[in-house]
Amino acid sequence: MSAILEAVDLNTYYGRSHILFDVSLSVASGETVCLMGRNGAGKTTTFRSIMGLKSTKSGKIVFKGKDCTRQPAFRMARMGLGYVPEDRRILGSFTVRENLELGKIPGRGGRWTMAKVLEHFPTMIHMKDRMGGTLSGGEQQMLTIARALMGNPDVLVLDEPTEGLAPVIVAVLRELIMTIKAEQTTILLSEQNIRFAMAVSDRVVVIDKGHVVYSGTMEEFKREETVQKKYLAV
Ligand code: ATP
Repeated sequence: MSAILEAVDLNTYYGRSHILFDVSLSVASGETVCLMGRNGAGKTTTFRSIMGLKSTKSGKIVFKGKDCTRQPAFRMARMGLGYVPEDRRILGSFTVRENLELGKIPGRGGRWTMAKVLEHFPTMIHMKDRMGGTLSGGEQQMLTIARALMGNPDVLVLDEPTEGLAPVIVAVLRELIMTIKAEQTTILLSEQNIRFAMAVSDRVVVIDKGHVVYSGTMEEFKREETVQKKYLAV
């Protein structure tokens, strides 16, 4: 399968600290790929490097066959990378509907219209006039994903979507991701929740101390108990 998104040998620094060491990963169209690793392993830095939010010292980003290395984040978004950061930046003094409208990206129409997004997130229908700031953590997470879909991304990038969510909300999120996947949405996510990752992902890349230490299909990964124990909190 040819990759829709490819990161090749990324090296990223914070000041003098070398954080990512030749990190490579690829995502094929229609696939869900999960970047797994412990706290501080380099998941967020990898995503920020791909999105153009953090400059890389070396390496290459190829998106939809185009070399996008060092493109600014707004251009990556316009090209179709929809990013949901770990800290869920919803606008608290705007309503849910307004937050969703703000997810639209000029020139990026497509199947994810307001009506279709609300169909997939039925709980939003009842809260569309509520202020974003009054939503619970789980509701805010759903809203950030719904808002990213409003931009009709070719690849949806989710940084640790289950972080800080109660198990019951994680279960709702899992179902939601499965329905989005069924719509042939391509997803790149990061996770520490191994059960969630196993339920939704087709392929896994494990990162540890800024190095990719494992890459394989989810079926293969499920049998890799040593990798799971060594690099993840299981
Ligand atoms: P987490 O689950 O905690 O978000 P992560 O796998 O996403 O972990 P990163 O946030 O990418 O990890 O962090 C990778 C390394 O980079 C860590 O050692 C972290 O301390 C360091 N780091 C992250 N952000 C900065 C920053 N703004 N300045 C300096 N160092 C940073």
